[in-house]
Amino acid sequence: MTDTAAPSPTANSSGLSDLHKAILDSANYAIIATDATGIVQVFNRAAERMFGYTAEEIVGKQSTRLWQSAPEVQADAIRRGLIKKPGFDLFAENPEPYESVEYELMCTTKDGRHIPVLSSVNAVRTPTGVITGYLGIGTDLTVRKAVEEKVRQENAFRLALETSAPIAIATANLDGKQTYVNPTFCKMVGYSAEELIGKGMPRVYWHPNGTEMLKRATDRVLNNHKGTENFELMFRRKDGSSVNVYCYVSPLLNDEHETAGWLAVYFDITERKQVERTLFESEARFRSYFAESASGMSLVSPDGRWIMVNKAACNITGYTEQELLSTTFQAITYPDDLDKDLKQAEHLLAGEISSYQMEKRYIHKTGRLVWIDLTVSLVHDAQGKPLYFCSQFQDISQRKQTDEQLRRAKDAAEAANQAKSNFLANISHEIRTPLNAIAGFAEVLERGDIEAKERQEFAQTIRRNSEHLLNVLNDILDVSRIEAGRMTIEMQPVALRSLLEDVYATLHARAESKGLKFHCKKAADLPSTIVTDPTRLRQILLNLVGNAVKFTDVGSVTILASVEAPRTLKIEVVDTGLGIPPEQQRAIFEPFTQVDVSHSRRFGGVGLGLAISKRLAGLLGGEISLHSHVGRGSTFTLRLQINEQTIVPIEPSHPSKAPIRSVRVLVAEDSIDSQRLLQFLLEKLNLKVDIAANGQAALDLYDQSVANGTPYELVIMDMQMPVLDGYTATPLLRQRGYAGPLIVLTANATAQDRDRCLGVGCDEFLSKPVQLHSLEQTVRRHFGV
Ligand code: ADP
Repeated sequence: MTDTAAPSPTANSSGLSDLHKAILDSANYAIIATDATGIVQVFNRAAERMFGYTAEEIVGKQSTRLWQSAPEVQADAIRRGLIKKPGFDLFAENPEPYESVEYELMCTTKDGRHIPVLSSVNAVRTPTGVITGYLGIGTDLTVRKAVEEKVRQENAFRLALETSAPIAIATANLDGKQTYVNPTFCKMVGYSAEELIGKGMPRVYWHPNGTEMLKRATDRVLNNHKGTENFELMFRRKDGSSVNVYCYVSPLLNDEHETAGWLAVYFDITERKQVERTLFESEARFRSYFAESASGMSLVSPDGRWIMVNKAACNITGYTEQELLSTTFQAITYPDDLDKDLKQAEHLLAGEISSYQMEKRYIHKTGRLVWIDLTVSLVHDAQGKPLYFCSQFQDISQRKQTDEQLRRAKDAAEAANQAKSNFLANISHEIRTPLNAIAGFAEVLERGDIEAKERQEFAQTIRRNSEHLLNVLNDILDVSRIEAGRMTIEMQPVALRSLLEDVYATLHARAESKGLKFHCKKAADLPSTIVTDPTRLRQILLNLVGNAVKFTDVGSVTILASVEAPRTLKIEVVDTGLGIPPEQQRAIFEPFTQVDVSHSRRFGGVGLGLAISKRLAGLLGGEISLHSHVGRGSTFTLRLQINEQTIVPIEPSHPSKAPIRSVRVLVAEDSIDSQRLLQFLLEKLNLKVDIAANGQAALDLYDQSVANGTPYELVIMDMQMPVLDGYTATPLLRQRGYAGPLIVLTANATAQDRDRCLGVGCDEFLSKPVQLHSLEQTVRRHFGV
């Protein structure tokens, strides 16, 4: 080796050759050399940059000033992890054992900053081992420490992210092979990292299009380096179960900024999906229930607009869906029911109630009212703000109608019950009053010490009261016959004028006794004869006029008969009496009803007359109407459709006083009183009377009379008798050959009774109580001479 080949270093002021100095200055590390006492010999450029001193300022000075920092500064640096425990002092005190030692220590720069420095110190020795100085090489740790801290933090963050965040991360290379998976991903798919790394991904993708979707996504990602793709897919776990994930795929770039693979981040959305599915299912269920429900269903906004309505709601209200959606519930609610509904809705909106139920009316599109049973609740959003009312309603019009009918029927039943109770009280009064007179005067007559005139008066009173009793009884029977539809009408030509006069005459005395003016005005064009049932027409008129007289204390009663239309006969009964309040004007035509219960006590009567009259008028083809003012009087008007007849009416036959042939008569009667009465009456008529107490006794007497050669020429038969009744005895009598007249005298006074009697072989029918003149008429017809 020759010494010309390399430039020879030249010595400079520091004692170093230029070459050595250049080498030292080019080093990146601070290089400081001291003598054995620590006086700085060499201080290179890097040392100047690190400490801020120039070589001139530090060379020849004690080096300890560079690294001797206050103990608290060192302690703080250790605590902050900037340096490890410093050992330089130790080294300086006892350098022997150390060949080369690394220290971290806090040094102090010229401007007073403390910097962590990693230094490697070597003792410079003579060949004999004597230390002649020290050589230290140092690096400023500030930057490295900062980088290390950053890396540490990043690692900690990454670790935290990978291990504890619920985010699954996986990377793959361009071949689709897994290059990284984090623990969350492993947990998510149930495979270990070893089972996945280096393997193709498709094994965990379960969605039918999963592989395809992923490929398309990665293709897009690969074609567009910056793009991120996101989509949903499904993983199949190792145990076969599935997991829904939401996936973000982004490219992984290499140092050349080329796509080298991709990174996918997955979120487990299984639970959310389940909730969505449940929601979807429940919404689907709700929608189907809503649409198909037989009840009307609707969603209504807080201000009343219909938001959604079902078919039933349209059917109930009569509106189409479109029509309802363009209006409000207020618009079709019956005004009387609206306030109540709105108040309830307010309570609901205020959260004071959770729902309400009410019955109210909608106005159907056709205008009719529909009763509905409505239940309303309120649906809120997640923040608790009211969203809409949910209302459900059924058409209950039918039920309401039935309720109403039931209520009316109940009211009517109660009224009828009440009327019947009143009736019982009245009837008892009506029967007791005449009975009182009858019994009282009969007793007086029995005593005998009375004058003939008085006796006649008392007898008349008894007869009048008996007739009254009979009328009450007849009324009751008439009503029950009419109610049972068994009232028969016998149409015949009737002399109208004389019938009217008859009614007038009958009531004249009563009206006069009350001081009333009493008139009967017959229009000139009144037909002389009409076809009707004279008994029933008389009954109607006697009742109307009788009432007029009864309920008028001052003024007049007038009968006005006229022809209203060609075929309508109008008979008005006008009085100036009490009058009838409007609310009673219908009721008084119902049986047992009076304007005032006190009427029965004041005026007598049981409240049957008008009910009978109205129904009889109906049976005669007419009607009765009423105009009345309380305190001013009443007008009852009878209108009859008439068939005018030209036939001359049959004049009522006046009883003839010519003698009756004295014939033998057999009376079958069980009641001793009736036997005696009949015997008395018949003997007065010049007949020879034999009495049998029952049907069998009558047959025996008849047989005997035949055997004696003096058979009976007349038989009078009661129907209800002990041993053998009239219904059985009559045909047996006929079988024995009796062909003479057979008169039934019975308390069974209905038309059916009459038909039955005539059916078993009777000729005449008389009902009890027997009226002398009727009996006389009948006898006279058969045996008059
Ligand atoms: P009654 O006369 O036996 O009570 P009605 O059926 O004939 O029964 O009459 C029913 C009720 O109608 C009477 O009790 C009376 O209250 C009222 N009324 C009938 N006619 C008149 C009239 N002309 N003026 C005032 N009230 C009358």
